[in-house]
Amino acid sequence: MSETAEHSPHHIDVKEFHPRAQAAIHNPKIRQNFRKAMDGLMTKRKSAFEGWDLETLRDLGANIRLGALANLPDLLEQLEQKLTDNGIKVHWAIDGDEACRIVRDICKARDAKTVIKGKSMVSEEMELNHYLDEQGIEALESDLGEYIVQLAGETPSHIIMPAIHKNTDEISQLLHEKTGTDLSHDVEYLTASARLQLREKFMNADVGVSGVNFAVAETGTLCLVENEGNGRMTTTVPPCHIAVTGIEKVVPNLEDVSGLLALLTRSATGQHITTYFNMISGPRKPGELDGPEEVHVVLVDNGRSSIYQDDELLDTLRCIRCGACMNHCPVYTRVGGHTYGTTYPGPIGSILMPHLIGLDEGQHLPTASSLCGACGEVCPVKIPIPDLLVRLRQESVDGDKLHPAKVRGHGAKRGAMEAMIWKGWSWMHARPGAYRFGTNMAARFRKLQPGQIGGWTQYRTAPKLAPKTLHERLKERGQ
Ligand code: SF4
Repeated sequence: MSETAEHSPHHIDVKEFHPRAQAAIHNPKIRQNFRKAMDGLMTKRKSAFEGWDLETLRDLGANIRLGALANLPDLLEQLEQKLTDNGIKVHWAIDGDEACRIVRDICKARDAKTVIKGKSMVSEEMELNHYLDEQGIEALESDLGEYIVQLAGETPSHIIMPAIHKNTDEISQLLHEKTGTDLSHDVEYLTASARLQLREKFMNADVGVSGVNFAVAETGTLCLVENEGNGRMTTTVPPCHIAVTGIEKVVPNLEDVSGLLALLTRSATGQHITTYFNMISGPRKPGELDGPEEVHVVLVDNGRSSIYQDDELLDTLRCIRCGACMNHCPVYTRVGGHTYGTTYPGPIGSILMPHLIGLDEGQHLPTASSLCGACGEVCPVKIPIPDLLVRLRQESVDGDKLHPAKVRGHGAKRGAMEAMIWKGWSWMHARPGAYRFGTNMAARFRKLQPGQIGGWTQYRTAPKLAPKTLHERLKERGQ
């Protein structure tokens, strides 16, 4: 395992965020790798938008996504109909387990032994590779970054650049150990070696699995954005293609795709356009030279419909997975993606994951933010991430009263002692006599006030009670 690897998949305790963050902060390699990569991405993004009216473009992106979400149930029905008309088989999965079983059944029906995968965060959410492995089906990642983290036995540490936590030396060492490639600093050579190894796997794979960036309801078209060509090969070379996507990826019309694509590529990698943009409209037709014999789509819910039911949290589903919020987040850029222990790290992970794993498991996520607002400012579809983080913080301590129990595990952070203190506080505030007595007593005995208040005073000075109450001061002034 490389020096920067912080864990192996399937054994991650999500609750161990704080010790992992401490370790990452004291690991110069991690900080150096992330800092360098994120600085580069921020600069590229900025220059990619030069000459564009960014705010107008962001408004356009936000409106497209809001419009799609406003009609989500109808659009999904329309999408299903159009996909079916195009000869694509549609499957619905309530959660990751069901989605995995659907993929397995399709593979078994074809007697498939090998699956080649394009990059897909939803399949990470489902832990599809691990599941297929248990079923005796080999799943090989074809995206170079995903291939590297798979070889290392790790999970992606960024949603668009899975191996960003590794530098060239570490990647060279890994490829040398696992595949026998010569040690080299030459990125071209390392890439070419990996390509050679993958090419053979492509030719022999029984099934190709990919993600989806946009699913167009109007035409039943699946759009896939990528840079390496592996997405195109995954979707065309194997005789069977399975696209796995979250239900929120649907957009009404083809023309919506161009606006979102312009925002996605610039926000993600600072590119005006990616090298490949695939549009899949169905299986191979008679007379066509390439393409799969059968195409399936698995539409995965996995907690999304519960997010959809809350008018405020619904904004989370606007996300087009560009990763810009991570690149600009002062927390993510210092601790790295593995620290979060979740499929989606950084600001988007902190607002999305509590819905997928529950606030009891992910109670630290909404607080893994300085609330500086950078994530909200760069988000191409204007998701108010800081507001959603605050909302989830509220839910984690007092879900019932403020927002009747919308997020699973709400109130998990509310300790019995804290609850009792706030109860006493509100009782006292409702009774002027008790309030006066209480504040008088607190002022008299303020010397007994503790200087340390748990973790709160680790980096702060405890506030001191005033020697006189407000009422006493006003009385002295004759008011
Ligand atoms: S929340 Fe916004 S900035 Fe972050 S990944 Fe999603 S679309 Fe990109």
